This record gives sequence, structure tokens and C-alpha cells, in this order.
Amino acid sequence: MSKVVKFGGSSLADAKQFQKVADIIKADPERHFVVVSAPGKRNDKDTKVTDMLYKTYALAEDDKNFSKELAAIEARYNEIIKGLKLKLSLKEEFEKIEENFKAKAGSDYAASRGEYLNGIIMSNYLGFEFVDPAEVILFDDDGSFDAEMTNRKVSKRLRGVENAVISGFYGAYENGKIKTFSRGGSDITGSIVARAIHADVYENWTDVSGFLVTDPRIIDKPAPIETITYTELRELAYMGASVLHEDAIFPVRKEGIPINIRNTNSPEDAGTWIVESTAKKSKYTITGIAGKKGFCCVNISKDMMNSEVGYVRRVLQAFEDQNISIEHVPSGIDTMTVFVAQEEFIDKEQAVVSEIHRLAKPDLLEIESDLALIAVVGRGMKRQRGTAARIFSALAHVSVNVRMIDQGSSELNIIIGVENRDFEKAIKAIYDIFVVTQL
Ligand code: ADP
Ligand code: ASP
Ligand code: MG
Repeated sequence: MSKVVKFGGSSLADAKQFQKVADIIKADPERHFVVVSAPGKRNDKDTKVTDMLYKTYALAEDDKNFSKELAAIEARYNEIIKGLKLKLSLKEEFEKIEENFKAKAGSDYAASRGEYLNGIIMSNYLGFEFVDPAEVILFDDDGSFDAEMTNRKVSKRLRGVENAVISGFYGAYENGKIKTFSRGGSDITGSIVARAIHADVYENWTDVSGFLVTDPRIIDKPAPIETITYTELRELAYMGASVLHEDAIFPVRKEGIPINIRNTNSPEDAGTWIVESTAKKSKYTITGIAGKKGFCCVNISKDMMNSEVGYVRRVLQAFEDQNISIEHVPSGIDTMTVFVAQEEFIDKEQAVVSEIHRLAKPDLLEIESDLALIAVVGRGMKRQRGTAARIFSALAHVSVNVRMIDQGSSELNIIIGVENRDFEKAIKAIYDIFVVTQL
């Protein structure tokens, strides 16, 4: 048996957390490969090292002095080194980083140093070999991740290696320039390593005892999820359940390797299993609820829209031309609505509007803002009648106005649009009806 273990930022925020991590690794000799994030928050008011790096590099890019900010980052690492009583100095590494910042090595390079340095410390502390992902995790020239080449390189690099620490979050272009995944991307690195070594399990260690039915920042102590499928997980993660990066399932899915979410601060808890498919029924009708605020929608009406060939395509073309990605497109006979992220849309809205008029000549066009989307996800929903009706009555009961409903063709999820200000209230109401009262 071989396990890949990934530890997130809060599991590596200070020396005490490093010690917990080492205890976990040593408790099971099958934990051969360790993927690390950058140090995260030590408390609610703290800042993640990754965010400190982005901020420091922004100063460098503007030719401003950044020595104080870089020194604060160095101090965080030195505190960990001192706390672990290691004979290790990162002085030369920081000199190199300063030089590269001045030479404008890029914000991806800057952010990646958080994981890079934590990898060096962890490998030194555990006595494991250090593997820099810049050598083995590759991106194509257009910035897309090269999964197959990476898989070959990682397996080759780790062949015959007993134990190793690999930094998460980044890789490199073929020319060696550093490129990161999107935020939270160390989860993807763990999955890549698990696939490459044909691991039996990918353990993802974080600060909660598994995937919970909903966000613990909205509901106090939500019920835990014992088993969830890759697709359910992806739907929930994409919609804001940030426990695991939504793309982290792809590499392991190719090999059918299960992911086990575990809590570094409570290692005896069984956590959540994320699997390809399961005969196990979820405890409730739904598996989970997640959501995000900050959407706009563009409502378009045109008489006889339904019979006009290519109408939807022409409308969507206007968004594509402005490089705006689309979240949802519910439609009726004479109407359609396009949901987009407000932040991405707002600066380009008038360009999109005029292009829709040019391409699709609608009778009416109206933009609404400050909307939230909530996903209710569950493999059990298609076997149950009336799930949508229960959601509606729960929301009506607490006077939440439902602005949109969209049931995915897989019948795995129902997406509901509400106003931003009703977001938490709506999640509470849905949680109550399916989990607390189980009506
Ligand atoms: P790490 O630093 O270990 O990668 P993250 O901060 O990325 O950890 O993810 C863990 C956090 O995700 C939890 O602390 C919790 O606040 C948040 N979270 C959001 N939705 C959920 C959910 N459904 N279940 C558990 N945690 C959730
Ligand atoms: N440190 C990176 C971030 O904060 C990557 C990660 O934690 O997975 O996004
Ligand atoms: Mg994370």
C-alpha cells in the first residue's frame, strides 16, 4: 500500500502544526509521499503567506521598496525553523527571491515560493527527499496543464524513491518559467502525485473533519458527509465548498483512487471518502449545499425565440467575444437568461449589450445584479420525488424570493438563484428541511 498525503496551509501554519503533521506521517509507514501548501493563517486575523507574497511582488512590480514585506515573510519561515530546532538557513533562498522579484520574475513565481520554501523545510524536518515540481509538473505554452507529460515525468522522477516531499500549487512551462494552478491548487498537485505513483489512497489533510453538508461558516457544526462521489464533489467545490479544489478529482479519477479528507487537528476522525461511485446511500436526500454570491443576469426576451434557429448561439456569442464565461442559461419559450460573475461582467456590460442587440435583436433586454447561486447536490435526488418542491416551500416559508431555478440534466443538482442578501437565510432554510427536520 502506498499513500499520498497532502497538507493544507492551516496544517502548516507554524512549528506546532508541523509537529502534528510529522506525527501523522510517522504513524503510518504507508504515507510515502507528502505534498505541502504554503503556511496558512495561524488565527482568524492572520494572513496566508501566499497572500503576503502576491502583495510583496505587486510592490516589486511597481518598482517600490519591498524589503520590509519580504522580511516579514522570511520571519514567518524562520519562526518555523526555530520552533522545529532545524539546522537550516533560508538566507540564500531569500537573496535569490529578492533578486528575482527585482528582475520581475512574475506573480506566479512569487506565489510559488510559499510552497517551495515550505517543501524545503518539511523535507529537512522529515529527512525525506525534496522534489521541486518545476521539474516535473508541466504546462503548455497556452497555459494549460499537460496532464499526460506530467504523469510520465512524475512517475519517472519518483520511481525507486522511498519517501519524498513535493511542493504543491505550481509547475513550469517547458522553458522553465514558473506557473501556478488557480488558488487552492495544492489539492491538484496531491492528486497528480497519487495518479503517478498508483497510490491506493490520496489523503487530503485540512482543518475540518471532512466534507460537511454545508459551509461551517454559515451553519454551526453542519453534519459530516461520510461518502461522496467525484461528480458530487466537483459540483459542490465549484459552487464554493472550498475544502477541495474542483479540478483535484481529475488525475485520481483516471485511476479510480479514492480521496480521504482528514483533519490534522483531529487525526482520529474518519473524515470523508470521495469515490468514483458507491452503493452507499447518503444519509439525507441531499448530499450537500454550496453557493456563491456576486452574480449578474441578463434577461432577454424575443417573441418566437424558440423557433428562430441559432438564437441562443448568437446571444452567447456576445459573451464569448468579450471573453466572459457563463454560469447558467435557463430559458423559456420567448425568454432566456444568462448568468455571469458580476466582477467579470461589470466592466464589459455595455459592450456585451450592444453586441447582443447587433447579433440577436431582442425585443427586451434587462440586467439584474447582486444575485447569489446556491447548488443543492445529491446522487439520491433523482430517486426522490418532490425535492424541488420541498426546496421552494422551505424558501417561501422564510420569505426568500427565488429568482431562478435550473435542474442539471444529470439530476444530480438543482441550482437556485436568490438575492445576495438572502444567501445565508436560504442556505439555512434548505439545510433545516433536509438535515435538521428531515421532512
Ligand atoms: P486547506 O488550507 O487545508 O487547503 P481550505 O481552507 O482550502 O483548507 O479548506 C478548508 C475550509 O473549507 C474549511 O476550514 C471550511 O471553512 C471551508 N468549507 C467551505 N465549505 C465547506 C464544507 N462544505 N465542508 C467543510 N469545509 C468547508
Ligand atoms: N497556497 C496556495 C493558495 O493559498 C495554494 C493552496 O493552498 O493550495 O491558494
Ligand atoms: Mg485548500
